[in-house]
Amino acid sequence: MGLLEVKDVNKRFGGLQALGNVNLSVAEQTVHAIIGPNGAGKSTLLNCLVGKLIPDTGSVMFDGQSVLGRTPFEINQMGISRVFQTPEIFGDLTVMENMLIPCFAKRDGSFALHGIRSVVSEGELRDQAEQMLEDVNMLDKRNMHSASMSRGDKRRLEMAMCLVQNPKLLLLDEPTAGMARADTNNTIDLLKEIKEKRNITIAIIEHDMHVVFSLAERITVLAQGTPLVEDTPENIKGHPKVKEAYLGE
Ligand code: ADP
Ligand code: MG
Repeated sequence: MGLLEVKDVNKRFGGLQALGNVNLSVAEQTVHAIIGPNGAGKSTLLNCLVGKLIPDTGSVMFDGQSVLGRTPFEINQMGISRVFQTPEIFGDLTVMENMLIPCFAKRDGSFALHGIRSVVSEGELRDQAEQMLEDVNMLDKRNMHSASMSRGDKRRLEMAMCLVQNPKLLLLDEPTAGMARADTNNTIDLLKEIKEKRNITIAIIEHDMHVVFSLAERITVLAQGTPLVEDTPENIKGHPKVKEAYLGE
């Protein structure tokens, strides 16, 4: 059984069937890409995984537990972190101050959720944040004003803010959208490093096939809300249905 198991998920928006019988299994410690044309339902699927949307029918199991009926916050506490399409950082704060937000949120949220008392001091949280910044090669930027950084660095910071929560599953929705080639390549390298260092599971929605084929071990192709095929990158590249429906050949 995969770390994430999506079974027969359906989601309608009025008359539009955004997701139709979606099945998806993401194995632990793999990078699984979800690709498909615009409007295929990729973001809707992701929103169903993090509690932002509730499927009409079907099940979503994470680490052996259902996520359905839980709030986004509770799902985050279960170990799913999501990176947004546009970096969601606080521009007025420094890099380090941004890092401390998820650290405190995790600590204090855990207490609220589980009714346990504080055992992690502020100093320890700062150490965790610094260690994470070092892991993503941003420690030298810790006192920088976040708004003044490049798009690539903002993305890097946002990923660090997700990773410092020690998620089991990292979800990325088009992490390289709008990025210059150099920043895209940096993001690929960063994700490879993260994968190696932290043994994390990654599900990534991505339009850029260069990114997909650089990172993914499995690929699911969604078309009009339904999975067309799931296979290895090698097989996806040559798949006639995929070429026709997505790669435009
Ligand atoms: P993708 O991320 O693959 O581009 P989306 O999941 O964003 O696709 O959208 C799938 C379909 O659902 C599209 O036709 C989109 O217009 C529609 N859709 C997405 N979100 C909503 C919503 N909140 N209300 C109504 N329709 C929506
Ligand atoms: Mg989308």
